[in-house]
Amino acid sequence: MSDRRIKKAGKITSKKAPAKRKPKSTLIRTPETSRPVPSATQAGTTAKHYLSDKVGYFTESVIREMTRQAMLHHAVNLAQGFPDFSAPAEIKQAAQRAVAGDVNQYAITWGAKNLRNAIARQMGVWQKITVDPEKEITVCCGSTEAMISTLLAVCNTGDEVVIFEPFYENYGPDSVLSGAKPKFVKLHPPKEDGGEWTFDEKELRRAFDKHTKAIILNTPNNPTGKVFTRKELELIRDLCVEFDVLAITDEIYEHILYDGTEHISMVSLDGMRERTVTINGMSKTYSVTGWRVGWAVGPEKITNAIRKVHDFLTVGAPAPLQEAGAAALSLPAEYYANLAQGYRVRRDHLMPALTAAGFKCFRPRGAYYVMTDISAFGYSDDVAFAKYLVQEIGVACVPGSSFYRDPKDGARQVRFAFCKKPETLDEASRRLAKLAR
Ligand code: PLP
Repeated sequence: MSDRRIKKAGKITSKKAPAKRKPKSTLIRTPETSRPVPSATQAGTTAKHYLSDKVGYFTESVIREMTRQAMLHHAVNLAQGFPDFSAPAEIKQAAQRAVAGDVNQYAITWGAKNLRNAIARQMGVWQKITVDPEKEITVCCGSTEAMISTLLAVCNTGDEVVIFEPFYENYGPDSVLSGAKPKFVKLHPPKEDGGEWTFDEKELRRAFDKHTKAIILNTPNNPTGKVFTRKELELIRDLCVEFDVLAITDEIYEHILYDGTEHISMVSLDGMRERTVTINGMSKTYSVTGWRVGWAVGPEKITNAIRKVHDFLTVGAPAPLQEAGAAALSLPAEYYANLAQGYRVRRDHLMPALTAAGFKCFRPRGAYYVMTDISAFGYSDDVAFAKYLVQEIGVACVPGSSFYRDPKDGARQVRFAFCKKPETLDEASRRLAKLAR
């Protein structure tokens, strides 16, 4: 260790250790997460401390934990967002062919050429954006890795990253791991039935300043189901341009849209081509969450940095599944129309059952989750309610607090996933009906 680092460690050991804090949900309790806080040798103790400071700031994923709880209690798992039905036969056959054809070794670190070409071609079709597959795409192990690789590639310690909350829980730990300080901007639930989640323009503006490096934007949104409108995106665009900020967009639910909503990619807006990293992947669009193939598309300079981080994190995504990805991205337009239609039917299957059971549902316009209000059940908080639901009713959901920095903000909410077979939703509905009795 260099003298400089020893000195730095010495300086910070006098502060309170994060390990003694008990975070209740995934995200650290303090908003100023990126401030270096000590761990090494605790004040007043000589015990050697093996863990990094960073891991003291977040817990394991609550979403993934709820899947384990569902298995433990033989509950219907409407917690984690993975389909319980088959992936398209064509893409499974493409994967089988790739393995049989000995595509068994490392692909090019930043992605198999076939897949990069297919991603570039489809971004042209869907977003009307010309992408250079040689210079602007990095294929990663899921969009999860694409997001953390991007943040690690662009953030310095203390940089601020704006995040709308409720937020997909990975963004909290992602910020901590990359040294960035998250700044949260509230999405407010609709006041009337069927209304939209909204944000306050002034609050958003206040979140931007000279320290802001990026905004993470997830549309269609998990957990709210919000699909950001062109007007909202233009407003965000204007702030990005004014403050010279990068947009990192998670568009993994791009094709899952309802009620005539339109997905607009931030990168397609004037002024954003050079300041947007677009993240997407196979998991949700092709019902293959376990394949771990995703990608980040961005300007060459940023892509070079992402590729370096990605290389040393994982070397590459699974090679045969990247070939299958190229086949998947070649599916006809009707595949995507059927996908959205299938999810609309599932949404309209689950929502009435939830409403009848006593939940207030916030109608999603995209993605495959319903955020609900549980006030009617009289529980002290969302975690107590989710525990009751999984253990006594036999349905797993995700406590709302895991989507907020302050657990209190999500204490009246839980999220259900409806990416399930009709019979799974039937069984869940039957069990949920017990709540109404
Ligand atoms: N981004 C969002 C908004 C998600 O909801 C999820 C999974 O639920 C992911 C990313 C994870 O995607 P991947 O499987 O490509 O890592």
